[in-house]
Amino acid sequence: MEYVDCHTHTRHSDGRGTIEENVARACALGLSTIACTDHFVLPPTMDPDCACSVPAGDAGAYLDDIRAAREAHPEIQVVTGWECDFYPGCERLIDRHRGDATFLLGSVHALDGQWIDDLGDLAYWERHRLEDVWTRYFEVWAQACACDVGFSSMAHPDLVSLRGLVPDDPALLRDLYESAASAAARAGVRVEVSSAGMRKPLGAFYPAPDLLATFCAHGVPITVGSDAHDPAVVGDRVADLYAYARRAGYAQVDVPTVDGGWRSIAL
Ligand SMILES: [Zn+2]
Ligand SMILES: [Zn+2]
Repeated sequence: MEYVDCHTHTRHSDGRGTIEENVARACALGLSTIACTDHFVLPPTMDPDCACSVPAGDAGAYLDDIRAAREAHPEIQVVTGWECDFYPGCERLIDRHRGDATFLLGSVHALDGQWIDDLGDLAYWERHRLEDVWTRYFEVWAQACACDVGFSSMAHPDLVSLRGLVPDDPALLRDLYESAASAAARAGVRVEVSSAGMRKPLGAFYPAPDLLATFCAHGVPITVGSDAHDPAVVGDRVADLYAYARRAGYAQVDVPTVDGGWRSIAL
């Protein structure tokens, strides 16, 4: 079986390793593709100290490092990407700094200007009911699918579950999952199956089995990624992600190519 990892970070944003270390690790694991997807440049209002995003002035160096790793490792496809936060108006910065990136992950990490995935700052969670956080999350998520950026794949589609807190209302969940899958299908965007939730209080893959099955029923294609922030985590549980996707009904995984195209791996 051929394995890939289409979601990885380095110290250019909030990861620990270098591009070279991530790519070398992917080669050691025998992966056929790694996508470099550091957190895209954010406006100063969202990340004033560039604590989690690549500073605008460093975007060129990030892209250069990917090019160098691609030349140094012809045995693996090194895809140039970014993980882009969606917020109203994000298109302008993405146009300005994306460079030659061909793979754009779309993410919702913040709602109404406040982070929801920072376990050290639960202010947004404390001010809103769980049901309302989930509803708002999927509302913004659907806007991200439909926005003009045209994301390649939506990262960790139900990131809002990271704390392991799920609304106790099956009808609400069904509605949210159904509208998320419709939004992705309408926009023609892929969704990511991710092992990152295993390293959060959730302790499970994103998206939840029922959400992934709903995406599958709507014909939404998938990519896979570890969301590694450390070279040691590159490729984390990819074989298990394939099995998980198979159980949800998927027969293939989509993989971006270095020239901006796509291919698929049969599961
Ligand atoms: Zn993310
Ligand atoms: Zn990420």
